[in-house]
Amino acid sequence: MATFLFDKTVFGPVKSRRLGISLGINLLPNDSKLCSFNCIYCECGWNPDPQKVKAVLPAREWVYSSLEEQLAKMVAANELPDVITFAGNGEPTLHPDFSGIIDDTILLRDKLAPKARIAVLSNSTMLHKPAVVTALKKVDDNILKLDSGIPETIVILNAPVGYFDFDKMVSQLIAFEGNLIIQTLFLKGEFNGVEFDNTTEQELSAWIELIRRINPKKLMIYSIDRDTPLDTLKKVAKAELDSIAARVRKELTINVEVSG
Ligand code: SF4
Repeated sequence: MATFLFDKTVFGPVKSRRLGISLGINLLPNDSKLCSFNCIYCECGWNPDPQKVKAVLPAREWVYSSLEEQLAKMVAANELPDVITFAGNGEPTLHPDFSGIIDDTILLRDKLAPKARIAVLSNSTMLHKPAVVTALKKVDDNILKLDSGIPETIVILNAPVGYFDFDKMVSQLIAFEGNLIIQTLFLKGEFNGVEFDNTTEQELSAWIELIRRINPKKLMIYSIDRDTPLDTLKKVAKAELDSIAARVRKELTINVEVSG
């Protein structure tokens, strides 16, 4: 199925299902994907062969000037964003200047669009880096991925690239002491002869137990919405997501937002 890449560093504004009017920042290459996961549902497609594609990341100065220019245009048009969102063609925290870029973005937001929130959509794999954690704690919406409470399911759904320690990642999420939002994508399907479904009772109890331990200020749950690299994935219906949300609200006192 067709997937797509963002061809700019600063893109949009776009209307986001979860975030409102969002001005996007892509800290990854404009012509290829770079990620520490290779999720089977990734809207950017599969990770390219690193031997064949050289990832060129935008310089901090370029991100600053592109964001300043776009925000100035939006100020002139009186159409300010609700949120400035770090997303794009992969994992934003892989950028070596991620923390400095967050500082720049806070500066520009305060100057040009003081009501806009700053959100980072991250896959939680770079939390071993203190500078990344410090930067994530500075943004309004620190949205970290946790698609299952079972490590084997994470391997199927998210296909980590290189070394990955699930228990360490969970401890790193707990270490935010609630100053985070967890995002979870629910889906069912089959890949390479392996069937998966992260909505089963076993999955949900393991996941809810981890959510209880992490205690995020908010949960965002959703399912696939756009094209994915595989055509053997099944979207989880909104009614089922609503019932998962109702169960979480009953078992834990956490704000749950459902998109679908
Ligand atoms: S973490 Fe996000 S960008 Fe990376 S592979 Fe998964 S869906 Fe794609």
